[in-house]
Amino acid sequence: MEPTIRAEGLTKRFGRFTAVDNVNFSISKGEIFGFLGPNGSGKSTVIRMLCGLLTPTEGDAWLLGMNICSDAPAIKRRIGYMSQQFSLYRDLTVRENMFFFGQLYGLPRSRIEERTQILSDYLGLNPYKNRQAGLLSGGWRQRLALASALMHEPDIVFLDEPTAGIDPVARRELWNLLFDLSARGITLFVTTHYMDEAERCTLVAYIYLSKLIAFGDPSSLKNLPDVTPKGYRRLELSAQPLTQLLDHYRRHPSVRSATIFGEAAHLLVKQDWPNDEIRRYGTDHGWEDLLLREIPPTLEDVFVSLTLAEEKKRLP
Ligand code: ADP
Ligand code: MG
Repeated sequence: MEPTIRAEGLTKRFGRFTAVDNVNFSISKGEIFGFLGPNGSGKSTVIRMLCGLLTPTEGDAWLLGMNICSDAPAIKRRIGYMSQQFSLYRDLTVRENMFFFGQLYGLPRSRIEERTQILSDYLGLNPYKNRQAGLLSGGWRQRLALASALMHEPDIVFLDEPTAGIDPVARRELWNLLFDLSARGITLFVTTHYMDEAERCTLVAYIYLSKLIAFGDPSSLKNLPDVTPKGYRRLELSAQPLTQLLDHYRRHPSVRSATIFGEAAHLLVKQDWPNDEIRRYGTDHGWEDLLLREIPPTLEDVFVSLTLAEEKKRLP
């Protein structure tokens, strides 16, 4: 089957600066694709090219089998876009914003009214229909932006940092909506800074200074050989006080790296350092009730390892 989104050698240069460098990926229908990377790495530029707002310098891409350059008008009818900047009209009400977007997509009035009702019910916007968008909280603004992007029933929705700056409850609710949209067969292209959100995606990519350095489903990325070097394993260790524990274990020659993750320390240790000795290294220094277990890498581990490997490669 033709992938829903396919990019081949996608490249964008602004003058002599390369913002997106030879990016390749393909994404199937209904996927939740998480696009991660530090600020300024080219995420928004990729989205702008895919949505037909910027022309690639080199390379090409297809959405639903249509070419982003030659079929741009037809593509626009099938995609929704939530930009990184607040793109709603602050002085228009929720209902008026939805009406405006419906018109923008060329829907007839009756269809706009029908969609406004369906989406207000679906997204819980009914109590706010007559409120000005500028007066909504961050989470509700994002729901309105999503409603506006869904007016014309798109097959693909691009969401550029949809959860930046919204509270954790609104963040979780937005993700539940994304899961539901994906279950309905809508393909979602989401950029984010949050590693925990990457874990929720069915497919993820990491772009680092304009180059894609990782692409795949979370579990296959965690099994990449670069991520857990040969002869090492990952452990979770917990006891209080955690920062002192971390400091103590960091000093041991068998520990290659160590960091705190939530309530525990994550260590990358030499394979030949047995669990009972690891535990004894703690108890000998006064830590009791030391909890220790072997764990798979997190996506954050994956991206950190791949970034370090990439930096090594780029050294002159
Ligand atoms: P991200 O979304 O990952 O933060 P962007 O795609 O917005 O990154 O930007 C990638 C790089 O391209 C940045 O260094 C940015 O300054 C640069 N850039 C983006 N748009 C333009 C433009 N229109 N003109 C010149 N440089 C740009
Ligand atoms: Mg951006």
